Amino acid sequence: MRIVVAGAAGFIGSHLCDRLLAEGHQVVGLDNLLTGAARNIAHLAGDPRFEFFERDITQPFEVAGSVDAVFNLASPASPFDYLRCPIETLDVGSLGTRRLLELARTANARFLLASTSETYGDPAVHPQVETYWGNVNPVGPRSCYDESKRFAEALTMAYHRKHGLATNIARIFNTYGPRMKLNDGRVVPAFLDQALRDVPMTVFGEGRQTRSFCYVSDLVDGLYRLMLSSERYPVNLGNPREMTILEFAERIRALTGTKARIEFRALPEDDPRQRQPDISKARAILGWEPRVSLDEGLRETVAYFRGLVGAGVGV
Ligand code: UDP
Repeated sequence: MRIVVAGAAGFIGSHLCDRLLAEGHQVVGLDNLLTGAARNIAHLAGDPRFEFFERDITQPFEVAGSVDAVFNLASPASPFDYLRCPIETLDVGSLGTRRLLELARTANARFLLASTSETYGDPAVHPQVETYWGNVNPVGPRSCYDESKRFAEALTMAYHRKHGLATNIARIFNTYGPRMKLNDGRVVPAFLDQALRDVPMTVFGEGRQTRSFCYVSDLVDGLYRLMLSSERYPVNLGNPREMTILEFAERIRALTGTKARIEFRALPEDDPRQRQPDISKARAILGWEPRVSLDEGLRETVAYFRGLVGAGVGV
């Protein structure tokens, strides 16, 4: 297949490009490099099956030649980034998604939307199942991301219903691995950066909020399987192993052998108190579940961040 990946220079997008190329497909990568980084795809420069175009998908753009599938992974995704770029975040979920859906419609291609567990907001149902409609503050600081993705889901379903487009919606839960930005404020790079530099690890609130962390190769495998499926309704992709943020900090302290102590900071507004995917649906219809253990995934990620911290990148 010839596959368009929007957000190709991002953390998950770049790993998806690697996987698609490994599966024998051709890839056309698009990214405006607002939060993505050219170095994430630098290793693909010599591959004749990979093309890259620096494009802002909220503006008119064209992709020459045939297209068989479109993946939409274009969006700021860390709270730090989307709080800094709230308008761009709303634009890319709405206008950007619309332009990609049109590309898929005119090319007669399939379309996959990378949505998010943030569509559940601060969830009152735990673990989160796809049928739960969520608990989102529509005017809070995180709403630019949550509502943008909720709108993108609605638009994707509208294109499926109105135009019969073959669409998929992945609700991605916390994902980590190499190529995350060291300074994007998310908990994995933040803790690893602090641990590797032996400076205090900043746990927000009392660290009693929970998250469930999925290694990026597992997540990308789920995205690929979902794109090949005929499931039109959202599917959760994430690792159900849930832990408190304090436990997570302790795990990283043990793994890195850091001297860093833990320092408590104010909990950000509307920070979800709990998050754990129910992945029964992905297991049943995609035969998918995460395979990489937390310690294994963290070891890979630590090795990557050690390289960055050693080279003084992004510190
Ligand atoms: N967090 C933290 N210290 C940090 C960064 C994040 O305690 O330096 C917490 C944050 O409050 C949240 C969790 O870690 O409860 C995950 O945050 P992240 O920004 O990675 O993603 P989120 O799941 O909130 O989208």
